[in-house]
Parts: sequence; C-alpha cells; structure tokens
Amino acid sequence: MSTEAQPIDADLARRVKLVIFDVDGVLTDAGVYIGATASGETTELKRFDIQDGVGLKMLMCSGLEVAIVSGRVSEATVLRARELEVLECHQDPHAHKLGIVEELLRRKALQWSEVAMLADDIPDLAVLRRVGLKAAVANATSHVVDICDWQSRRPGGHGAAREFCDALLAARGELDDVVERYVDERSK
Ligand SMILES: [Mg+2]
Repeated sequence: MSTEAQPIDADLARRVKLVIFDVDGVLTDAGVYIGATASGETTELKRFDIQDGVGLKMLMCSGLEVAIVSGRVSEATVLRARELEVLECHQDPHAHKLGIVEELLRRKALQWSEVAMLADDIPDLAVLRRVGLKAAVANATSHVVDICDWQSRRPGGHGAAREFCDALLAARGELDDVVERYVDERSK
C-alpha cells in the first residue's frame, strides 16, 4: 500500500507530534447503522477498518500522540478508541472541535505546527485550517481538499487512515523501524 501512496513533505512530517483523526468519513465510510433494541433502546453501529487500526497503533509505537476527535457522539467510537488504546478520544454533539483541540494542545504543551489531521468534511475545517500538516481522505469534500497538503488515494473507512499513517512514518524515515518494533514486541 505504501508504494501507491503519495509522499508527504518530509519537513511537514518531521514536525508532527500529534495526529488527529476525524471519525465519520475518515475512520469510517461515513455511514452509520441506526436502530433500536427490542426494549426500545437506540443503538448505533459503525464499521471500522482493522488495517487502519494497525496504522494508529504504529503511530503510537513510533512515539507520536494520537487523538480521535468526532463531531458526533457515538458509543461505537468510544469502543473502537478503547480497543486501540487511544486515550484522547473526544466527541462533541455539535461538532465544536476547535475548543477540544485547543485544550488538548494546552495540556500537551504543543504548537499547531506540530499537529497533523486527517479530515473529510467541513466540520473539520476549524481545526484543519490551523494544523501544520493538513491531510484529506480520497472522498473528502472540496473545501477540505482545497487546503490539504496531502490526499490519500483510498477513501475513509477503507484504508485511508492506514495510507496516511504509512506515508507519515515513511516521510519521517521511521516506517521500517516501526514495523520491526511492532513485530519485535509481538515476538517475545
Ligand atoms: Mg467526518
């Protein structure tokens, strides 16, 4: 997959310390399954890509901070973040993401130039416009594509996040090392 991906500018990539992922349309294909249990309790399911998840684990394995920031509130997102051990999982029901990320940067003592974001639609723009590395999925809307530094060839929910993780690590010269470290940790 990494051989198909567009390269990310190495200078932008090397500055990154925190990588933010949107959820709907980025870690998913933007679809949600909404239903109710027999007792009337609302339930919502989302489909996540397992190879994307490995990409997020690789970023964390490399020492990068990873955050999931969603403009909708969904238990499915909480469960997926927990499975991936992404501690910074934040959701706002009205897509007010900027305040969430400003607080995150304050807490982590990070600059906007040290942040990368993978985005797909206008709820991401308030944050995306400020970050140092702006990335869009293949199915991103035009307002996101117009300002992005990099765009995946794969769509959200179908490998876009993994493509971004691989390209980011490759641009930092860390991809092969991280793969070996990931394998080593699972060879004991
Ligand atoms: Mg989205």
